Amino acid sequence: MSALRFDVEGAEGPKTFFSRMKKGEIGHAYLFSGPAGVGKKTFARRLAQSLLCEAPHDRILGYDGTCASCRQIDAGTHPDLFESDGALKIGDREASLGFHEGDDLTARDLVRQLALQSYAGGFRICILGDVDFATHHAANALLKFFEEPPASVIFLLTTAAPGRLLSTIRSRFVEVRFSALTHAQVQTILEADGVAPKEAKLAATLGQGSVTRARAAIADDEQSLRAGVIGWFFQVIDGRTPPETWATRETLDEGLETLKTLVRDWAALSIAGPDAPVLSADHVKALRKLQPLAAGDVQRILARLGDAQQLAETNVSPGLVAEMVRMHLTR
Ligand SMILES: [Zn+2]
Repeated sequence: MSALRFDVEGAEGPKTFFSRMKKGEIGHAYLFSGPAGVGKKTFARRLAQSLLCEAPHDRILGYDGTCASCRQIDAGTHPDLFESDGALKIGDREASLGFHEGDDLTARDLVRQLALQSYAGGFRICILGDVDFATHHAANALLKFFEEPPASVIFLLTTAAPGRLLSTIRSRFVEVRFSALTHAQVQTILEADGVAPKEAKLAATLGQGSVTRARAAIADDEQSLRAGVIGWFFQVIDGRTPPETWATRETLDEGLETLKTLVRDWAALSIAGPDAPVLSADHVKALRKLQPLAAGDVQRILARLGDAQQLAETNVSPGLVAEMVRMHLTR
């Protein structure tokens, strides 16, 4: 038997709660409440995977990650795991759609699907993430199901606002509370996603215990830096001397990478013509308008950008490095 794992960072309380139970003791309705972005949905998915995993185990938490069931869950195609996000409508379509076919899962779809037998003969698990009901009607359509679910059906609901749920619904669920993550836990999660340690640490601080907020901080940061660098680049090529506000100790290296991409795109268009594929597709029109670069200039500029990247690792002032790049771009 291979070792089982449960890859969820933090969530100590919920882990303790479920690890006290054996598989046969699990209830049929849990409400995961707590701040946004702390891993409630991830926990729900991993819990579902634990319950559906074919590796023999009588504890609740843990899966091997390799059996057929685990692979289906990874691929999002497990027939006994249903997942929906956000507001549920009542739904009036008669067509019997599968759960993996659309985003517009409705309360009626759910009732219809859950009335069927389990595909594999085990649990059928329904995750309603950030659950909300578009109308009372939609909530009532599911209320009966929450009261008396078909055998082996388990509901896992997540919400950052449990107070928004009807008390008649809320009272059907065992509430499991999640707390904010520590900065170190957020950093670990981001690093597992491939974010560089330094950046992950900064984002974790900005995220204030929420992975979602930390990821948004990274995305915003990248977007605004990239936009600043691109704006600067086109002004420079246009013969102007815009301020090098994008060049700071923290952003210089990343900014130079953006410039390299732009120069490579510019070179591709110069050499292969206006239909050449470019990486900066959102700026292809402006790039096409630039005067074609000679092959020698491409080599020279890329070499100087390489020099600048090496300087970026020294104590040379970032503004000075950017100034040097500006001169090489316009020579
Ligand atoms: Zn498995």
